[in-house]
Amino acid sequence: MATGKLIVIAAPSGSGKTTLVKRLLEVCPHLSFSISACTRQPRPGEVHGKDYYFYSEDEFRALIDKDAFVEWEMVYTGKYYGTLKSELQRIWDTGHSPLIDIDVQGALAIKKKFPDIARTIFIEAPSVEELRRRLKARGTETEETLEERVNKAVHELRFAQYFERIVINENLEEATAELLKVVEEFTR
Ligand code: 5GP
Repeated sequence: MATGKLIVIAAPSGSGKTTLVKRLLEVCPHLSFSISACTRQPRPGEVHGKDYYFYSEDEFRALIDKDAFVEWEMVYTGKYYGTLKSELQRIWDTGHSPLIDIDVQGALAIKKKFPDIARTIFIEAPSVEELRRRLKARGTETEETLEERVNKAVHELRFAQYFERIVINENLEEATAELLKVVEEFTR
């Protein structure tokens, strides 16, 4: 596997990570979004091969058997997510650095696998209440999946200390600027 650098961003669901990641990609032409594989259903507007590679559970299992993943995990009940080796290679081959949007366990697994070339960043919401409010406003969750996401977020907060950088997303502009600085420092 040829390697370049890797930016690994983890955050509780509802921390505003997706918007931040989008902003960061706009201002960092040398970063490319690493498209993960997953088995959850696409949300309205999500596209296979752009947001995720959406697979059935059987297809996902076949990829596990082929050792196609750098890491994979059941992130939510019955829903698998994973980073494909071929995806990182695809991006490195273009001369770019992959930006991996991943959950906390996955981020730490990647850091362990690529200690020298990976930089791990944790995005924090200002508070759990704010996080719940943002998740509700998104309108993509049922009462049940919202609670699961909030519980997971609270659990994930405990792992922030294991990340190399923490960015608190209170104000989008400031958080983007801070993220940009971290990425520039590491990739230049
Ligand atoms: P969502 O369903 O909201 O798109 O993503 C749910 C969670 O899965 C997020 O925390 C996201 O970062 C994480 N995730 C996305 N891709 C991967 C991956 O390839 N591996 C792991 N371990 N988690 C991922």
